[in-house]
Amino acid sequence: KTADLAGLPPGVPEHLRDEGIEELYPPQAEAVEAGVTAGESLVASVPTASGKTLVAELAMLSAVERGGKALYIVPLRALASEKKAEFERWEEYGIDVGVSTGNYDSSGEWLASQDIIVATSEKVDSLVRNNAPWVDDLSCVVADEVHLVDDSHRGPTLEVTLGKLRKINPGLQVVALSATVGNPEDIAEWLDAELVESEWRPIDLKMGVHYGNAITFDDGSQREVRVGKGDRQTPALVADILDDDGDGEDDDGGGSSLVFVNSRRNAEASAKRLADVTEKRLTSEERGELAEIAQEIRDVSDTETSDTLANCVAKGAAFHHAGLAADHRSLVEDAFRERLIKVISATPTLAAGVNTPSRRVIVRDWQRYDGDFGGMKPLDVLEVHQMMGRAGRPGLDPYGEAVLLAKNADTRDELFERYIWADAEPVRSKLAAEPALRTHLLATVASGFAHTREGLLEFLDQTLYATQTDEPGRLERVTDNVLDYLEANGFVERDGDGVTATSVGHTVSRLYLDPMSAAEIIDGLRWASDHREEKLRELEGEADGSARENRADAEVDADAGFQRASEMVPEEGTDADGDGGGDAESDDDVEFETDRTYPTALGLFHLVCRTPDMYQLYLKSGDREEYTELCYEREPELLGNTPSEYEDVRFEEWLSALKTARLLEDWADEVDEDRITERYGVGPGDIRGKVETAEWLLGAAEQLAGEIDASATVPVREAKMRVQYGVRDELIDLAGIRGVGRKRARRLFEAGIQTRADLREADKSVVLAALRGRRKTAENVLEAAGRKDPSMDDVREADAEDLPEA
Ligand code: ADP
Repeated sequence: KTADLAGLPPGVPEHLRDEGIEELYPPQAEAVEAGVTAGESLVASVPTASGKTLVAELAMLSAVERGGKALYIVPLRALASEKKAEFERWEEYGIDVGVSTGNYDSSGEWLASQDIIVATSEKVDSLVRNNAPWVDDLSCVVADEVHLVDDSHRGPTLEVTLGKLRKINPGLQVVALSATVGNPEDIAEWLDAELVESEWRPIDLKMGVHYGNAITFDDGSQREVRVGKGDRQTPALVADILDDDGDGEDDDGGGSSLVFVNSRRNAEASAKRLADVTEKRLTSEERGELAEIAQEIRDVSDTETSDTLANCVAKGAAFHHAGLAADHRSLVEDAFRERLIKVISATPTLAAGVNTPSRRVIVRDWQRYDGDFGGMKPLDVLEVHQMMGRAGRPGLDPYGEAVLLAKNADTRDELFERYIWADAEPVRSKLAAEPALRTHLLATVASGFAHTREGLLEFLDQTLYATQTDEPGRLERVTDNVLDYLEANGFVERDGDGVTATSVGHTVSRLYLDPMSAAEIIDGLRWASDHREEKLRELEGEADGSARENRADAEVDADAGFQRASEMVPEEGTDADGDGGGDAESDDDVEFETDRTYPTALGLFHLVCRTPDMYQLYLKSGDREEYTELCYEREPELLGNTPSEYEDVRFEEWLSALKTARLLEDWADEVDEDRITERYGVGPGDIRGKVETAEWLLGAAEQLAGEIDASATVPVREAKMRVQYGVRDELIDLAGIRGVGRKRARRLFEAGIQTRADLREADKSVVLAALRGRRKTAENVLEAAGRKDPSMDDVREADAEDLPEA
């Protein structure tokens, strides 16, 4: 019984009881018996939705009650705020909860006063690198979805971070929450933890495959679900469960469905189709409430995605994927939990963590395109099991149903073998790969966890990789390669066995950059400083087209690439030393006169988009031609030699980076969000993501410029602020004021108010008109700009009304 739990802050057991949590679920009880409320480390490998979060809460709350401090590590940023909101209900018992997201390069000192801190593994890694002092005070760390150590991109960070936290705090309690995986004992061994392994679920789950006109379930039962000739299976399954009134007692208008598909485009297309199914089944009251939610969705942003989503939601259906704005996501999730939205078509991100159970789960696509593999690949059993685990709402549904779709009997049998009867794969560490070790070895040295090659190997010996490997020499080999790389790029210095981080190396580690990104940025900035004069001339020469002609000549000579083209540009009489030659060296002491800034914003955007820290946009069909042409046109702005078209892979990457850079340029040129989403085929959430990454990388570039060549600092900072605010340079000052976004800044500017200082002097009625008559906004803006008398009371109503809309 939760009421009998010892060691928790007073009031907590009663609170749990009031929430309806009177008894622990069996795996939770096992965890308590294993000592999770007494500081023991634990690995809990149990199915989705079987109450892992409570295990974590019990561990953290009892740790705090003993005078300690707890950290909860989430795999996705979107989950951080969700978890914080969940834990905040403990604040009435004196527990302070903080979430640490945002910049990767700060130490977050304010977190020192929090009892429970929620953060992503990347954020924790960066806090450790920045020597956040409170890290020493941690007594309990929870790793949510620890099976993700298997993920080659993000797993190593979690693995190394847990290792460092344990090294800093030898007595640290580690609570690792995992989906059911093939080898939870490996994880327990690695973490020196007790293991609770269970298949128990709070609500029965029936798994099956739909084929023909029926679902066949794992218990041998069948359910007829007819599909009309030429119709699709998914709408039939969604309609079937909506028309079912469950256990017969609860006339609840049937059950909702979650449909998992393999791409965003499919999620949207599927939701549109399913809206026709749900629309017919809505009550007029539901219609009214859904219309309101649809309006809220439109209010978030006026993009095409927003519009499509609102149209679906008005009819009782929705889609959900990582391209959605965060506000859209939570509106959809809430309305689904309130059972207003009857079906969500989602990409698998929804399966990872967000608590949106539903009566029926339909795994429509069990294959997805894999770029590395070059074709369609079946999903992991683990992933499919996590999606299926979302079926069934405890206390509401008699049981959950998870259904895969087959077009023929063979596939049906294959799906039973592959997913329904199968156990999840074992988790394998992905640490022994160069990209992972590049960043983590540098950080390990820079933050003082190791000072020698031997010490590094010792540290690595504490990882899951070391627990699992049957290839003992491998880690050592990769370590040596990586050390060579770091030394060659000036990030570490070696002296015999000793390894120390250089000043740049420290900066790179603190900034949380992949050393390869840092090397790319440093090379680009050095290149820019070496080619400054020459490129500026080229940019000036652009006007009469001579540069382009020259470039066309150079194309003939394929091997020369485009770099030669720029070298051949004539110097147009601006060659002050009069030798008329193209030798940039000879111009060293002569300032070339121009108003242009160099590097340009596009050049810098392209530079940071080339780094492995930026996910680039894909080139779609037709893009190659478009961006090859753009590449010719803007080549003088790009920082580095354009690879020749014959270097297929590198050239392709160069163009993808250019496409991504152009998106950023559009954003910084104040192009409407809507236009951008259309032009690049992305969602508003993607624009946010690219903008935030670019802001971070340019911030890092600004600091690196300071270390190597201060002349680029100003243009880099300007480019950073332009993406940050999404404005041209003349608006940077205005857009930096709290409450003034890119659109308001532009309207103020057009009304003749160009700076913060102007705002302090301006005629209030002009400000009010530029802000479309919003008095409260105008007052806030004036106050934020430092105006002494921000009140709008002295602007007459009549004045404001007469003013035209800016
Ligand atoms: P998981 O993290 O394992 O996917 P959650 O922690 O989200 O699962 O739990 C799913 C739901 O079960 C939550 O709504 C939670 O409040 C509820 N729950 C957890 N433990 C209990 C319990 N002992 N009794 C009743 N409900 C519980």
